[in-house]
Amino acid sequence: MIDRTGLLMVYTGNGKGKTTAALGTLMRAYGRDMKVIMLQFIKGKGIRLGEHIAAERMGVEIIPLGDGFIWQSQELDNGRKMALEGWTVCVDKILSGDYDIVILDELTYALEYGWLSVNEVLDVLKMRPKWMHIVVTGRDAPPKLVAAADMVTEMVEMKHHFKSGIVGQKGIEF
Ligand code: ATP
Ligand code: MG
Repeated sequence: MIDRTGLLMVYTGNGKGKTTAALGTLMRAYGRDMKVIMLQFIKGKGIRLGEHIAAERMGVEIIPLGDGFIWQSQELDNGRKMALEGWTVCVDKILSGDYDIVILDELTYALEYGWLSVNEVLDVLKMRPKWMHIVVTGRDAPPKLVAAADMVTEMVEMKHHFKSGIVGQKGIEF
């Protein structure tokens, strides 16, 4: 019997640091021998960022579910298909009860595009074991998700180096 209250935590807003904060949670929990998984919407299956290399070394699962960022309208149908397939993987992992923490990285984009319904997502989150922590990241967290959450932090952009023409840096962006 795990004596703990599972939290629903959301990192949202336009400032940088949402996925970084989720990875920090992952690392802290890993140190406590907790079982953590990060499922990544949007990020393409072939992607190999610093966190993927680190996770491999740590023996932690970080699973990209997406197909890269989708902007073109002709690709929206594919985005929906990927999101729905990805969500089935998330449901399996959440309801398996195998994890102390499940991180749903960039989930809000799938909600914003209407690929997934916030009600259905919240229904699944309600069915999770009561000790399981959930972390959701992504801009524009929908009001229903915010209402259901125990903790919400909004990253506010005060400055971002991209705006002064500095490109993405190894170990910082990827
Ligand atoms: P990170 O993964 O660096 O923590 P994030 O998860 O907060 O960023 P996302 O919306 O997922 O932000 O976008 C990821 C990418 O976009 C990163 O390369 C990040 O540097 C960049 N980015 C994040 N916020 C901003 C911003 N306010 N302006 C420009 N680029 C941004
Ligand atoms: Mg992110």
